[in-house]
Amino acid sequence: MVIVLEKHITPEQKRDLRTYLESKGYQVREIVGQEETIFGAVGISRVDPRDVELLPGVQRVIPISKPYKLASRELKKDDTIVPIGPIKIGGKRIVVIAGPCAVESREQILETARIVRASGAVALRGGAFKPRTSPYSFQGLGEEGLKYLKEAGETFGMPIATEVVATEYVDMMQEYVDLFQIGARNMQNFELLKKVGRTGKPVLLKRGLSATIEEWLMAAEYLLAHGTDHVILCERGIRTFETYTRNTLDISAIPVIKKLSHLPILVDPSHATGIREKVPPVALASIAAGADGLIIEVHPDPSKALSDGAQTLFPEQFEKLMRDIEVLAPVVGKEVAKLPSMEEGKEGGRVSLPSSGKRLHSIAVDKPVPHGQVPRIAFQGERGAYSEMATLNYFHFEVETYPQRSFQDVFDAVLEGRVEYGIVPLENSLAGSVHENYDLFLRYPDIKIVGETQLRIVHSLIGLPDATLEEVRKVFSHPQGLAQCARFLDEHPYMEKVPFYDTAGSVAHVAKEGKKEYAAIAHEGAARIYGMKVLKSGIETNPLNYTRFAILARAELEVGERPNKASIVFSTPDRPGSLFKCMKVLADRNLNMKKLESRPIAGKPWQYMFYVDLELPEDVEIFKEAVAEISDLSEDGVRILGMYRTRT
Ligand code: PEP
Ligand code: MN
Repeated sequence: MVIVLEKHITPEQKRDLRTYLESKGYQVREIVGQEETIFGAVGISRVDPRDVELLPGVQRVIPISKPYKLASRELKKDDTIVPIGPIKIGGKRIVVIAGPCAVESREQILETARIVRASGAVALRGGAFKPRTSPYSFQGLGEEGLKYLKEAGETFGMPIATEVVATEYVDMMQEYVDLFQIGARNMQNFELLKKVGRTGKPVLLKRGLSATIEEWLMAAEYLLAHGTDHVILCERGIRTFETYTRNTLDISAIPVIKKLSHLPILVDPSHATGIREKVPPVALASIAAGADGLIIEVHPDPSKALSDGAQTLFPEQFEKLMRDIEVLAPVVGKEVAKLPSMEEGKEGGRVSLPSSGKRLHSIAVDKPVPHGQVPRIAFQGERGAYSEMATLNYFHFEVETYPQRSFQDVFDAVLEGRVEYGIVPLENSLAGSVHENYDLFLRYPDIKIVGETQLRIVHSLIGLPDATLEEVRKVFSHPQGLAQCARFLDEHPYMEKVPFYDTAGSVAHVAKEGKKEYAAIAHEGAARIYGMKVLKSGIETNPLNYTRFAILARAELEVGERPNKASIVFSTPDRPGSLFKCMKVLADRNLNMKKLESRPIAGKPWQYMFYVDLELPEDVEIFKEAVAEISDLSEDGVRILGMYRTRT
């Protein structure tokens, strides 16, 4: 059963409640959610839920109707995020695990690790114990293979995943692996599940060849009930009458699992299809269907692979697939998880920006703050604003977000050190630049751009929990939100448009007013935050609606990844060809300009500042030379707004 705790439950009440439940034979897990904290109590029920409801500190009790309890969405509403070394599986990220079917030699696994890492895989796979259909096929290198796998993982800074086939290997394997894989053939090997569960390590649980979704979740329940909280499901195709492909990928299992369970789900398109050419399209379809990531077989030369060569990607195919996934990710509102680049790894994972005085603390965007402190981030708008959602996409670890009234307040909060970071929108793909923020950079010379991200803007119509679409008569939103949903509003002429200062703020307003005839247009996340309901999602007229955000920090902050983009600003003398000469400096050095924007200079009518975004070459010196040369050509020199990593 799910026991929802009172907000103000005391530690003593909590302890007494736990002791009481345990004395009745329940296993108790505390789950801290976004809106409430619960106790999940699982066991052979001997207590009347109504009695539990009467205990101090208990708000309400909800029985779990499904046979799987700990794995069920009824127990835990928020998605589970499984940490494996530096990466996290689940939530807003897409993770790709790649590597050969089997570890064949030290050279083979090191070379594969290098290849898949360079293309963007965040973890390395490779079987050391291979459960083969034929006893005469290659069975794997055993512990020797684990040693090579571990060495390859350490060399390239990647966590490793490998299959465990029998209980007797579990203890020995623990010191090598970061993620235990339970193979399809072992999904219902309950002794193995119990033993692996007891290690407390993350587990990737493949779906059995002919297992129903319920049987699969019951297998996950075994792992969870025996001590690990870190279970990741993996759909790898099931047996059907179809023989063209090795198995049939049950793509609908992805949304079904998302509904039934809070656990993350990966897809293995290699074993699902058994045919190399079919792997990329099926991989992309899985991401589109909501998978949290992929596990893919890649080999430096699949024609020489000792197992599963026919379904294994060539390095070039994997590289192309990773680029396609990158393009698809924002469409489904996600980011592809990344490891810091290898050169940075060697330098301790950090790149220094020009420093002026004392550092705040050094922080890499993919890593938590070293001393366990949660970074604070200021954004403009009410809770649930698109800026806040972009923040949660960008930072791959826990952050605290702080709403601010204006963009200037965001800059102030960063400058005064009340937060480590700020986030501001720079440009929308439909509405154009947010000029106010360009102008603010000039007024805050100590603030730099340290990162960039983009968010697909999907607008939802949000109303009271008991409202219906037909009842809505007034729609509140920021004027841009209203304009971007013009077609939907035209089709519903009885809905009056009411401009409001903020999208998420309009949701808060409708919640406060409590009228079923009122609705707001905002990000669906705002509905959750204010306890409201999405009446219709995806109501924006043009689905290709993206906003680009800059992550700000004080100039002295160090960022974590090798920068690949830079922004500069300068003005030119009022003479023929002066802007052209500056552009030529970039062209002569083969520097790729991404954007040129001009803004009037305050107090100097008809004079302009030019903002240039450009791709930063590997050799940063080329960029610095260009800056020096433009500086000589410009009125007051060049200001570098930032050298940063773009995640778009
Ligand atoms: C594997 O991942 O190498 C494997 C054997 O997969 P499955 O258990 O899904 O067949
Ligand atoms: Mn295989």
